[in-house]
Amino acid sequence: MILRAQEVRLAVTHVGAVGIIVTATCWAALAKEPAVTSWSIARGLGVIIGSIVAASLTFWVIQREWRNFHQGSLQHARKCLLSEIEPEAPVVDPDTQPLVAEIRSQVTDLRSKLEAAQLKNKMLEIQLRLSDAERRQTQSILNGITDAVIVTNTFDEILLANPAAGRILNFDSETCARKPIGEIAGCTHLIQDISDARQTHSRSARRSGEYLIERDGAKNSFRASMNAVVDSSGQFSAIVTVLHDVTRDKEVSAMKSEFVSHVSHELRTPLASIRAYAELLVDGEATDETSRQEFYRVIQSEADRLSRMIENILNVSRIEAGITKTNRTQVSLTGILKQVLEVAQPGATEKKITLVDELSPVFFQIEADRDMIYQAAMNLVSNAIKYTPVGGTVRLETAVDEDKSEVSVLVHDTGVGIPEESMKNLFQKFYRVEQNKSVAKGSGLGLHLTRKIIENVHKGRMIVTSLVGKGSTFGFTLPIIK
Ligand code: ADP
Repeated sequence: MILRAQEVRLAVTHVGAVGIIVTATCWAALAKEPAVTSWSIARGLGVIIGSIVAASLTFWVIQREWRNFHQGSLQHARKCLLSEIEPEAPVVDPDTQPLVAEIRSQVTDLRSKLEAAQLKNKMLEIQLRLSDAERRQTQSILNGITDAVIVTNTFDEILLANPAAGRILNFDSETCARKPIGEIAGCTHLIQDISDARQTHSRSARRSGEYLIERDGAKNSFRASMNAVVDSSGQFSAIVTVLHDVTRDKEVSAMKSEFVSHVSHELRTPLASIRAYAELLVDGEATDETSRQEFYRVIQSEADRLSRMIENILNVSRIEAGITKTNRTQVSLTGILKQVLEVAQPGATEKKITLVDELSPVFFQIEADRDMIYQAAMNLVSNAIKYTPVGGTVRLETAVDEDKSEVSVLVHDTGVGIPEESMKNLFQKFYRVEQNKSVAKGSGLGLHLTRKIIENVHKGRMIVTSLVGKGSTFGFTLPIIK
């Protein structure tokens, strides 16, 4: 590169020097002329033209040399670069040529092997990313399942578990991978069954069982199924265990059997009375008219009780099944309650209980099923009479809350009251307060039905307060039509 620069400088110097010498000589000759003649003018012009030609020639030479120099530099640079990447083949001794050729072929071979390995590496990377994405997708599907799912391998180590499994068996589903299930999960029976299922490890291996697992201080029932997974070559690879919470199903089925046994028990009691008194009459045990009338009265009241009970059971079932036909119309609440007082009066009189009418003089309009509201109010008033000792007082009151646009119906009594611990169970089907069982007969269905009528059918609210030995207040609120 240094050599080229020198060449340029030399060419420029030569051309420039020749031009300058020629021009200077001409000017010197011209300056010696004594007078200006046409010949001297012609020579002057020749000198000027010569100078221009010399300058143009110099410029042309410089330009050409510069271009050559520039291109030469670029070619030189490229050559240098290439020689760094692919060094020119050194002159080799003919004896060592086969060896060099061998080395060259081995290098080429290695190069192609390296390229193949790089390609394979890339493919593996792609496969890894794909299987990672698939694993995350499988995990998110598992996470969305409400049942507990646990996958264990041939060593009973956890391969996969969803958060539901972690919650139920009390371990962290995020960090449980590769840990032995026996060390982290709490249910020993289940772990044993998973292990047994693994040992049988045939394609048909499928086990199931029910387990009681304690969670948050409560024991829940779970039904588990364990399935062996075999790969395409028939080799056992994992056990998939699915746990389904059957606590609620069991409760419902227990409630159903309890209901049937309660109903048959409750129906049997009045039926037994009816049968006993009827037998006494048939056997002629009632010798006088007064006894006969007494027996007829018992049979009638027990038959009424039986029919009320059947009616209540049917109503509860209909409301629960959502097949009750409600006939909602605009009705006067005060009108309904006046009728309740009228019908309840004989029972109150019989027990020397004072039935007080504290109904508002305003006849509120509500949109309701008349018969149902009548039954709800009647249940509360007859309970108040039933659980109030002789000589007590029962007051029926209505109060309006204009702001909330609702009316409250309240039945106050001076009865036996209800212990604090029984309050939460009062509205359960067939629930009867143990301490009050001797006070009056009953089925434990009245309050349950009343709540269904008020809260489920009419979107109202039940009210209850009570003090043992002092009395109770039962009631409900309903929206009023303005
Ligand atoms: P029952 O047919 O037994 O009266 P209810 O469902 O009407 O059934 O009432 C459930 C239980 O609540 C009753 O067994 C009784 O112990 C208690 N109870 C209801 N009303 C009163 C009340 N006014 N005073 C005291 N206890 C009451």
